[in-house]
Amino acid sequence: MSSADPVPVLPGPDGQSPASPAPQATKALVAFGPASVLVPPPGDTATFPALQAEIRQLARDHHAVILSHSYERPEIQDVADHVGDSLRLSRLAASAPESTIVFCGVSFMAETAKILSPDKRVLLPDLAAGCSLADSITVEQLRAWKAEHPGAVVVSYVNTTAAVKAESDYCCTSSNARAVINAIPADRQILFLPDMFLGLWLQRVTGRKLSIWLGECHVHAGIRASDVEQWHRELPAAELLIHPECGCTSQVLEAAGDDVHILSTEGMVTYAQGSSAEAFLIATETGILHRLKQMAPGKRFVPVNPEAVCQYMKLTTLEKVRDSLRLGVHEIHVPAETATLARLALERMIAIS
Ligand code: SF4
Repeated sequence: MSSADPVPVLPGPDGQSPASPAPQATKALVAFGPASVLVPPPGDTATFPALQAEIRQLARDHHAVILSHSYERPEIQDVADHVGDSLRLSRLAASAPESTIVFCGVSFMAETAKILSPDKRVLLPDLAAGCSLADSITVEQLRAWKAEHPGAVVVSYVNTTAAVKAESDYCCTSSNARAVINAIPADRQILFLPDMFLGLWLQRVTGRKLSIWLGECHVHAGIRASDVEQWHRELPAAELLIHPECGCTSQVLEAAGDDVHILSTEGMVTYAQGSSAEAFLIATETGILHRLKQMAPGKRFVPVNPEAVCQYMKLTTLEKVRDSLRLGVHEIHVPAETATLARLALERMIAIS
């Protein structure tokens, strides 16, 4: 991986579409991503109610709040106190009265919760729950990139490690990235990282020239324009909701009509609730479908790529959440100096959005 300015869309092995790892088959779930991360098969649904009751009791005993990202397994979302995107959950965690936070998500999310709640105990049920997007830039790479562009403003997507946030001027999420970019004086160079598809979309909607890191989420990069086009032909009345991390975003926008909406995960939920449409094509990780069906009952949600499954998110099982509460594992720590600097980048974002 290297810095890049300007940004090309990387060709894949077929010379047509952006590069991404090949799909990996597991015993019972199909997910994109490294073969070293094996997704546990779906549990026995008959055991879920008893496990969920045990988890709720343990949460009371340990004064814990359980948070679940919208991409987690349905049974994890159902046992959580709050479900949503990573920043919404971290802010909820900071204001919650509980002294322990169990974060059912991936490691950068648990770090963000710890940064915003330094006095609370933050637990991640499985330490292997990483993120290909956060891994696409290291703090050493960021320092080298900054050295090449002295005086540039660094804007980091929230899907980054605490160390990378600490080297950044601003954080952003997919829902407030446009506002963050617009708040930076027009004469300042902006280094945007790590998601190139989000960066390309931001260039388009803000009209700003950005220097964009060539990182990607392997799940969203695997959602192709051809997936979208096929479903659009089959369900022409459906509205299309696309996450800006998707590899198809630029191409779909070229031919976009009024029925195409580029939205964050939380934005998709809010949009579906308020729309008069009855059917929606969803271009993001498929875990969001459970939440969409719960929050907008009676509507139809179709994943444009049903194999867009993040194996890191699916590592968390009910048994691991129970054991996390029982044993106090795995506690997340962020060095104090790193946390202080990273919090500044997050607070600058919060002040804007
Ligand atoms: S879906 Fe992509 S961005 Fe989200 S946690 Fe998985 S790898 Fe990271």
